[in-house]
Amino acid sequence: MCRHLGWLGREVAVSSLVLDPPQGLRVQSYAPRRQKNGLMNADGWGVGFFDGVTPRRWRSPAPLWGDASFASVAPALRSHCVVAAVRSATVGMPIDSSATAPFTDGEWLLSHNGVVDRAVLPLRASAESVCDSALLAANIFARGLDALGDTIIEIGNADRFARLNMLAANGSRLVATAWGDTLSILRRDDGIVLASEPYDDSPDWEDLPDRHLVEVVGDRVTVTSLETSLDRPVPPKGPR
Ligand code: GLN
Repeated sequence: MCRHLGWLGREVAVSSLVLDPPQGLRVQSYAPRRQKNGLMNADGWGVGFFDGVTPRRWRSPAPLWGDASFASVAPALRSHCVVAAVRSATVGMPIDSSATAPFTDGEWLLSHNGVVDRAVLPLRASAESVCDSALLAANIFARGLDALGDTIIEIGNADRFARLNMLAANGSRLVATAWGDTLSILRRDDGIVLASEPYDDSPDWEDLPDRHLVEVVGDRVTVTSLETSLDRPVPPKGPR
């Protein structure tokens, strides 16, 4: 499982979200506190942010904790909307920048924290990488982010072992799902953070329930259940 973080609010330095917090993504790259799968996130990192309406990305297949160049430049990168991730690659997936979140369609930045059987994804081509997360991103982009909840329910139905924590932003909206892993929200005076796990010990963090979709527009937060037919009892077998 990877760890990711999204920000929508006032313009802030990227370093203040990713590198500076005592338990932020930099520390989560070697010592996550709530990660259920994998011990650390040493297989790369990606930081995406909006420059006006233009998404920009900086990704690397190396561990975030050792990237002195990024640490030097990150205080000068400022944005009102950020999607960042540190990666623990799923066994068998390539380890290179193109397999590392955030992915983009030119409008959205998107990160996946989890795993999915690529065979259940309807669209197999046109992804940046053969990594499950890149293919999943391509499928979500093709369907549109307005359908994120439905897409996750369908893929979750098709692969009962999938973990589908998504995080996406387009500069004015921040959306995320909790589906198999942790997700927390922090409402600050200057904006909203959605993160796989709290980046500090502030009591203001709230845990979001599993199988839910959260959407942030401005300072309005909507949380919707994705609970569906997954929990429907298996129908009895008919007479033979
Ligand atoms: N399956 C994705 C990958 O290999 C994400 C892994 C994760 O969430 N740890 O990169």
